[in-house]
Amino acid sequence: MTAIRPRRRRRGSHALARLLKVAATLLVTYLYFAYAPDPYNLARPLDVTHPPTIVNDLKLRLGGVERCYQALARSGIELERLPDEVKGPGCGFEDVARLDQSFITWGDGITLTCPMLVGLAWWERHSLQPIAQDLFGSQVQRVRHFGTYSCRNVNNADGGRRSEHATANAVDVAGFVLADGREISVLKHWGDDSPEGRFLERIHDRACDHFDTVLGPAYNELHRDHFHFDNGGYETCR
Ligand SMILES: [Zn+2]
Repeated sequence: MTAIRPRRRRRGSHALARLLKVAATLLVTYLYFAYAPDPYNLARPLDVTHPPTIVNDLKLRLGGVERCYQALARSGIELERLPDEVKGPGCGFEDVARLDQSFITWGDGITLTCPMLVGLAWWERHSLQPIAQDLFGSQVQRVRHFGTYSCRNVNNADGGRRSEHATANAVDVAGFVLADGREISVLKHWGDDSPEGRFLERIHDRACDHFDTVLGPAYNELHRDHFHFDNGGYETCR
């Protein structure tokens, strides 16, 4: 009886297979960086006029403050960077800017960290406007807000930890004025079975794609008249 000997693999075919694998990887990498559309391409600079994608989110988180501000400048958003300031124990800000004009008018009192400003720009352009257009056939012209920076603790408590507002890393949004004159208010319309109520519900849910923390009237009584957004790193959407 003859024993069946295992066939010896040829060293040459192994080397060729490896070479082809490396060549294919290089080709795919080249094609990705050369041709992937900007919102999905890590080599292209962040552009807030493009839709937020997982790649854009990575660019924002890993790109650093200067690239963040460059992205806002490219989009035409007007702002003034402010000097760092310590205002009290646990209060003050670093690398913030005062918003003068975004895609929508916010009025005075918007001083925020750069990733928060990018979040607002994304929310305006890719959530507020398309949803307003869909429900009302009109655009949001103005946002009503309760401000950003405030040296205080979470929930205005006497003790406990500092709010993200204490480092200009949070904003409270109270309502909207549309181009057709219609007013939408979190206090008046949240929970309504009306286009205004549906608008608030949809933009609240979409905000959770742009900020770490999103709190609204469903969270607690203190938020009955506004949405709170911050980038403090605590992921919640309520
Ligand atoms: Zn707040």
